Amino acid sequence: MSDRIKGLIDKLETEHTLKKEEWVELFDGYTDETREYAAKKARGVSLENFGNKIYIRGIVEFSNVCKNDCLYCGIRASNKNAQRYRLTDEEILSCCDEGYEYGFRTFVLQSGEDYNEYPAKRIADIVARIKQNHPDCAVTLSLGEMEYDDLKLMREAGADRYLLRHETATKSLYEKLHPEKMSFEHRMTCLKWLKELGYQTGAGMMIGAPYQTSEDLADDMLFLHDFKPEMIGTGPFLPHKDTPFKDMQKGSYELTLFVLSLCRLMLPRVLLPATTALGTIRPNGREQGVLAGANVIMPNLSPTAVRKKYMLYDGKICTEDSSSECRNCLSARMKRIGYEIEVSRGDYK
Ligand code: SAH
Repeated sequence: MSDRIKGLIDKLETEHTLKKEEWVELFDGYTDETREYAAKKARGVSLENFGNKIYIRGIVEFSNVCKNDCLYCGIRASNKNAQRYRLTDEEILSCCDEGYEYGFRTFVLQSGEDYNEYPAKRIADIVARIKQNHPDCAVTLSLGEMEYDDLKLMREAGADRYLLRHETATKSLYEKLHPEKMSFEHRMTCLKWLKELGYQTGAGMMIGAPYQTSEDLADDMLFLHDFKPEMIGTGPFLPHKDTPFKDMQKGSYELTLFVLSLCRLMLPRVLLPATTALGTIRPNGREQGVLAGANVIMPNLSPTAVRKKYMLYDGKICTEDSSSECRNCLSARMKRIGYEIEVSRGDYK
């Protein structure tokens, strides 16, 4: 059994792809031993491509107002308990200025879907100002689904990257995780547009989302293989108390680490964060993520006053700390496992 699983991991390492039934076999049949086996190989691939350097991205969560109603998400429109906030342009820019001092050379602007207040033109202006203040920095956007012309406008203003997790490659599962008015096809179309427009594009999925099966995960891997995103964002599903999924089981920490390793083996140069959700499910989750093949960490640059309000799931870490505390804590965490934080844009190569 374990020889069979190891054989599939070896095959993935050399051929960078597997058949659907082989992916399913991996997800159904992995053990601690075979997961470690994959992690060791994935770590080797990361070291070959990036050395012991970890790229950092500073996230500014600039608004938690959202018109969408994703069933898993704590800032969904119907959550009446969420205290909503919006940062001004000046506040966003000053988060970036502060981040620059701490060595961040990528800023990620993330929010709910709040286009009335932050239309593409406003975001484009903010991006242009960040670029003007810090020409050596990359700007990543993570604003949800938008129309082609909007994505184009922001790209022309200088945005370099865009994170839009596909969430799941299975249409029927997508429909269980999202309200009827959201469209699987539109999300996939946006991803295609992002690539066309020359964004370094990030896709990804939650691990252990409600109703997710090994087949669904296999389809995610096949999709990622075909789409070839420059970045993959993936972390465990964690319930939020004010959502319809409040009583659902959280995703598996071990499976998340395993998926990270498989992503690294499949797409050796992909930019792969050890996510905040992974650090939330386990105190040293992000370190273990790096040791399983991740090469990016995305600490928070949002003002401490609003951090608790950007609660996608219960227990989210780093909501009490200041940006400089987060930065120092991460340096120390990486150092402890033999890695160093890299001060550069860290583009996909
Ligand atoms: N509005 C943007 C950003 C969403 S938040 C967008 O639609 O893309 C970023 C990611 O957090 C989501 O893509 C989702 O995969 C993840 N997320 C949301 N709720 C979560 C939960 N309860 N547990 C784990 N991850 C969650």
